[in-house]
Amino acid sequence: MKSSNFFLALRRDVNEGSMLTNLMIKGGTIQKLASGIYSWLPLGYAMLSKIEKIVSDSFEEMGFNRMCIPTLHPSALWKKSGRYEAYGQETLRVYDRKNNEFIYGPSAEEPCVEMVKQANIKSSDLPINLFNIQWKFRDELRPRFGVIRGREFLMCDGYSFHETIDQSSDFYDQVLLGYKKMFQKMNLDVIVQEAQTGEIGGVKSHEFIINSETGEEEIEHNGTRIKALELGHIFLLGDHYSKPMGLSITNRDNKNIPLIMGCYGVGISRLVAALIEQNHQDGVISLPKQVAPFQIMLINAGDSCDLCIKTTNKIYNKYLDITLLDDRQISIGEKLATSDLIGSPIRIVVWPKELNSGQIEIRVNNKKQFIDVDNLDNIIKAL
Ligand code: ATP
Ligand code: MG
Repeated sequence: MKSSNFFLALRRDVNEGSMLTNLMIKGGTIQKLASGIYSWLPLGYAMLSKIEKIVSDSFEEMGFNRMCIPTLHPSALWKKSGRYEAYGQETLRVYDRKNNEFIYGPSAEEPCVEMVKQANIKSSDLPINLFNIQWKFRDELRPRFGVIRGREFLMCDGYSFHETIDQSSDFYDQVLLGYKKMFQKMNLDVIVQEAQTGEIGGVKSHEFIINSETGEEEIEHNGTRIKALELGHIFLLGDHYSKPMGLSITNRDNKNIPLIMGCYGVGISRLVAALIEQNHQDGVISLPKQVAPFQIMLINAGDSCDLCIKTTNKIYNKYLDITLLDDRQISIGEKLATSDLIGSPIRIVVWPKELNSGQIEIRVNNKKQFIDVDNLDNIIKAL
């Protein structure tokens, strides 16, 4: 991709909130539309999509089937589960022209129970494991740190349905391992912590957290106090939703029993901000290649040097799918400054002087060096 064909939407003087949010807005990741509501610019959306794919693939590996639930849920469903009364001021209510009330889903237990219920399932159809990746809305009291705690945010939520608590619990334990693998794929060092089951009244629950400047809760970990940011949360729910909503099967003893459910959440839009926060140093963002919008940021510092142009184009064409070439008519200083915000793990600068001796500058994960042009392929493969 050439930056002349890519809407970078960079900004200079941003003072929207936290350092992290300002960094993301400056670099053209997100834009603020309203409090806790953000637009995703092409660069940010590319990163969001990569994370979405990693999470989606991981859920499929764990045995979930992807489906999609609407953002709007009829309030009647929520009245059945009891959440209509319980959920409180975080709920966003929406009315259609006939004055029917809907809830913009903060999670999707009710419509997912309804999905399984309408399928009239038998014991032999179990287990059923479903997930969807959909925008959610919670009217948070204090939206903070941009998309870390937004009001509209992208969440992956999985739901499991089993006949017995033991089966559900075994699946839950598998998901716990699957979550660890999923976060490892993004180079995230998560801490798994047992959590309160709280008002949901579930059986067990774990949170997946990282140590982050944006964490709102202090916890003790290995003898030190850290600020914990939650990235994922899993719950063994029991029959908390299935019982009031009438999702049951007839078991072998001819008894009607409610299904045992689990629910499994991951914040995808929160992950974008968390990954930027975990992978920046002195104003330079260098993301893991799995999530970086472009693995290579390429800059030619010799606009009037034929060999530079030739070398740059050669590199660009070789790594076309993973490269952003800054071809804007601006100063080299501006290009270098921009490259710090794009998040590519590799930055290549072609300087006329060094190219005379066959060398180019490469910065990999914040370490700069000059290498022979012929060595580039090895370095890119080793990333
Ligand atoms: P928190 O304690 O941070 O409010 P939660 O317990 O309300 O989180 P869940 O209901 O378990 O979160 O939602 C699953 C995941 O969705 C969370 O682990 C988090 O990554 C993400 N998430 C929750 N609320 C928000 C939000 N307001 N903005 C962005 N992501 C969110
Ligand atoms: Mg919350």
